[in-house]
Amino acid sequence: MKHNFYAGPAILSKKVLTKASEAAINFNNSGLSILEISHRSKDFVEVMEKAEALVCELLQISDDYKVLFLTGGASSQFYMTAMNLLNENEKAGYVDTGAWSTKAIKEANLFGKAEVTASSKDKNYSYIPKDYSVDPDYKYLHITSNNTIFGTQYASFPDIDVPMIGDMSSDIFSRSFDHRKFDVIYAGAQKNLGPAGVSLVIVKKNILGRVQREIPSMLNYQTHIDKNSSFNTPPVFPIYVSMLSLEWLKDFGGIPAIAQRNEEKANLIYKAIDDSPLFECPVSKEDRSKMNVVFMPTKEGIDDAFLKMAESANCIGIIGHRSVGGYRASIYNAMPTESVKVLADVINEFSQIHG
Ligand SMILES: *Cc1c(COP(=O)(O)O)cnc(C)c1O
Repeated sequence: MKHNFYAGPAILSKKVLTKASEAAINFNNSGLSILEISHRSKDFVEVMEKAEALVCELLQISDDYKVLFLTGGASSQFYMTAMNLLNENEKAGYVDTGAWSTKAIKEANLFGKAEVTASSKDKNYSYIPKDYSVDPDYKYLHITSNNTIFGTQYASFPDIDVPMIGDMSSDIFSRSFDHRKFDVIYAGAQKNLGPAGVSLVIVKKNILGRVQREIPSMLNYQTHIDKNSSFNTPPVFPIYVSMLSLEWLKDFGGIPAIAQRNEEKANLIYKAIDDSPLFECPVSKEDRSKMNVVFMPTKEGIDDAFLKMAESANCIGIIGHRSVGGYRASIYNAMPTESVKVLADVINEFSQIHG
C-alpha cells in the first residue's frame, strides 16, 4: 500500500475511487457513464442537489448562504471575490500569510484597493499574524485559513466588524468552525474534498448586488445562485466525486469525528519531528497546520538518504514546496492514521540511525 502525502491533487478514499470508477462505466445502473449523460438529466440533478445538501449538513450552513460548485480553481476566486464585492474606489484588507494570499492581493488590486492589513513575511511566513486592527472602511477582510505551502493554520478565526472572506482550499471539512463569521468561503476541491476541476464557494446572499461594475455572467455569483451552479455545463465528474467524498465523510461521523482523527494524526507526526535531532518544524507551535506538516533537516547532506528511506516505506510526495525546501507531509481527511504512523516511524528510525 502506498501512503500518499501529496499536497494537491491529493489523497481520496479508496471507497470513493472505487465508486467513481464504477460510475464512469455504468452510472446508477443506467447502462450509461456519468460522463455521457446530460447535466440536466434527473440523475445528475440529484447528484448536484445531494452534493449541496451534504455541504450544508456537514458544515451546518444556514439558508441565508448559497453553496456553489464553480470552475476555474480557487485561483479564479482571487478575482471573483473582489470583482463581485469591491468597487474601484473602495478598499479591502488582506492578511498576507504566504504565496496564496499574495496572489489573492494581486488579483484584488485589479478591481479595488487591496491593503495588506498584516503579514508574516518578516519571518518567512512561519506564523499567523494576530495583533492588527481592521479598518472599519474595509468592504471585507480576506484570510487564508490554512497555508498549504508554509504549513501554518489559523487555530481560531478573528472576530472582526467587517465581512470576512476565507480561502479554505486546504482545510475545509477538516474541523468545525462557525461559517457565520464569513461572507464568502471558497476552496479548490483537490486538497481536501475531491478531484481538481471544481471549487466549492459558499456565499452569503445578501452581500451581492452592491458593486457598480458590469460583471460577465460567468463571473457573477448571482448567475450561479440563480441557476443552481448549472448556468453552463458544470464539471459533472468532479462534482460527483466530491459528493461521494462528502458521503464518505458523513459515514465517517462527520466533522467532529474527522477533526478528532486529524488532531491525532498531526500530534503523531509533530511529535516525531520534535523528538528528532535531525528535523525541525519552522512554524511557531500554536500556528502549526494539521493538514500540511512542513519540516526541515537540521544537518546538511541527509536529504537523499531520508527521502530514500521514506520511499522504501512507500511514503510518497513528502518533498517540500520548491519555494520552501525541506519536506512537507500533507495529511488530509482521507489519510488514515496508519499512514501517518508509517511516516512517523520512518522519522524515528532515521533519527536513530543518523542522529
Ligand atoms: C491550492 C490552493 C489554491 C489554488 O487552487 P487552484 O484550484 O489550483 O487554483 C489557493 N489557495 C490555497 C490555500 C491552496 O492551497
